[in-house]
Amino acid sequence: MELLNIKECDIANKKVFIRCDFNVPMDDYNNITDDRRIRSALATINYCLDQKCAIILGSHFGRPKDGVKDEKYSLSPVARRLHQLLKLDIQLAEDVVGESAMKLSSELKGGEILLLENLRFEKGETKNDAEFSRALASMVDIYINDAFGVSHRAHASVEGITQFFDKEHKAAGFLLQKEIQFFGVLLERPVRPFAAIVGGSKVSGKLEALINLLPKVDKILIGGGMAFTFLKALGYDVGKSLVEDDLIPEAIKVMEEARRLGVKFYLPVDVVAAEKFAPDSMSRLVSAQEIPEGWMGLDIGPATVRLYRQVLADVQTILWNGPMGVYEMERFARGSNKIAHFVADSYATTVVGGGDTADLVQRVGLDEEITFISTGGGASLELLEGKVLPGVKALLK
Ligand code: AMP
Repeated sequence: MELLNIKECDIANKKVFIRCDFNVPMDDYNNITDDRRIRSALATINYCLDQKCAIILGSHFGRPKDGVKDEKYSLSPVARRLHQLLKLDIQLAEDVVGESAMKLSSELKGGEILLLENLRFEKGETKNDAEFSRALASMVDIYINDAFGVSHRAHASVEGITQFFDKEHKAAGFLLQKEIQFFGVLLERPVRPFAAIVGGSKVSGKLEALINLLPKVDKILIGGGMAFTFLKALGYDVGKSLVEDDLIPEAIKVMEEARRLGVKFYLPVDVVAAEKFAPDSMSRLVSAQEIPEGWMGLDIGPATVRLYRQVLADVQTILWNGPMGVYEMERFARGSNKIAHFVADSYATTVVGGGDTADLVQRVGLDEEITFISTGGGASLELLEGKVLPGVKALLK
């Protein structure tokens, strides 16, 4: 899958629109709590600055009600952070394609940066509206997509807009290219043995990814809530643990397919069981076969951690998507933390899917130790499912 490359695009002295993913976490006082996504966009922005481009940046942030401007979702904290990081003035338009944006963009000179307001203040954005796409496109000569985290959405600034540029005038930025390249190598020619650690809440969210991964990996290690549907499928009594009964037949099929393909499929052998889903709940370490009646498994136990360490000891590539337990509650974060330390210390190539897993690796302070952490949870999951993302399809060579 080869993308139109920003380096092969003649952007010098042109006006460019860069679709970024500045959808960063913020606290209640509008402080950015993790600016990784902003920092990840700097390579492309700096490259465009070097090429003396006039730069228009666009991003969504949060989920404002379609088409309604709401200060809570303004990109002004992002403008401030960009200013700190780039040490350049960042102009912030009051709207997206309204009077303010159009005026500022028409006056924009080479080396200057204009940030449009939250793209989702326009209801055309999520509807992939052609008129809105056209208005955005009309501001610039070149379109660059660097927003991997949203490239699985056919939204106006991701997909619709690309139809207004021919192949010489649109391309993928450095971040988007890096993400696609990493997942491409991972899924097409991984260094073996290749293990996937798959966790998170439900089987339903990861089923397609599991099915697509099965023929590509040597080992699968299951954790998180989804483990209990598999354990129940094996006939274990899992108490009140998270189970999707309707997916038990699918879970059996996945395990049978793993056996048929010779893929080693591992489930937790012990769990941290809790009386209720609460941070202060009574909890006990039990074997996966001995979860007390009415209790629920909220983390993998120490025997599973030891087993998984041993299973991962000889692998050359590790893909990790989904926490091993309810890592948001300290009492049930230990399994995920231990696995994070092991993955980080490993000599294997380690890839962490975005979202919760990236968040937990960061909380433990191990993000620098991982070979590659994706900036997109949903987008990376769709790649693992074997899908071609709409934002990527639009930029194929
Ligand atoms: P996902 O969005 O499917 O990747 O799931 C992430 C969520 O799964 C996190 O918020 C975890 O708290 C949750 N989770 C992990 N393990 C369990 C479990 N054993 N029971 C319930 N929820 C879990």
